[in-house]
Amino acid sequence: AVEVTGLRKAYGPTVVLDGIDLTVRAGEVVALLGPSGSGKSTLLRCINRLESWEDGSIKVGGCSLNVTDEGHALAPRAIAQMRASVGVGMVFQQFNLFGHLTAKENIAGPLRWVQGLSRMEADRRARELLERVGLSHRADALPRHLSGGQLQRVAIARAVAPNPSVLLLDEPTSALDPELVGEVLEVIRRLAVEDGLAMVISTHQLRFAGEVADRIVFLSGGSIIEDGPAEQVLTAPRHPLTARFLNKME
Ligand code: ATP
Ligand code: MG
Repeated sequence: AVEVTGLRKAYGPTVVLDGIDLTVRAGEVVALLGPSGSGKSTLLRCINRLESWEDGSIKVGGCSLNVTDEGHALAPRAIAQMRASVGVGMVFQQFNLFGHLTAKENIAGPLRWVQGLSRMEADRRARELLERVGLSHRADALPRHLSGGQLQRVAIARAVAPNPSVLLLDEPTSALDPELVGEVLEVIRRLAVEDGLAMVISTHQLRFAGEVADRIVFLSGGSIIEDGPAEQVLTAPRHPLTARFLNKME
């Protein structure tokens, strides 16, 4: 589970997150909606410790990632290890796969380099995950030979390979043709249910949010102005700003 309490984040004088309280339970999928610039990506980046913050706390699986003022750059490998140890995985809009590695190597490589698995263990885990995202038959394909939906499924498989308890997805379907959204949606739902992952997904696609999420959280100007069951928020929003946003998006 993730527990965000009183999170405040600013870039210089600009407050970007202003007292965020958000708890996501194991197995629960939360969609983050809100206008551009409302702080969705920043919130995900704080949970993943890609950003530091001014005030508040973020707990993942009971472990605190508290305010720090390190101000120094950690080596990428150290950051990756830190993330793996607190159990957070992240998926980006643009997949970020290694272009020169096959689908299987994109998953197995980091398991060896970061998690220290043997080649055999890493390969076994990669194959198992490719099967779970329906891509066993594309294990040896390079990214440039995969469709957008397939690329995103590999990226998701890679993110869950180290067994995180939390998966963060920043607009995972925004770069996809509409007909490819369904296959990614299905994989996300399956992993949440089968692995009991807590998921937080930012998106601009209302239909996708309604189908993928148990709960919808609406951000506006760095604050949560609405938080409820997906169906209720989409059909009967309580806050006028949510209603206005939904109307505009239809
Ligand atoms: P979108 O829907 O467009 O992806 P978002 O809800 O994800 O928007 P964020 O990317 O979290 O919004 O940005 C929140 C605010 O923080 C914006 O005003 C943005 O300009 C600002 N911001 C983001 N990153 C930085 C940065 N590195 N330095 C300064 N300001 C930033
Ligand atoms: Mg964003």
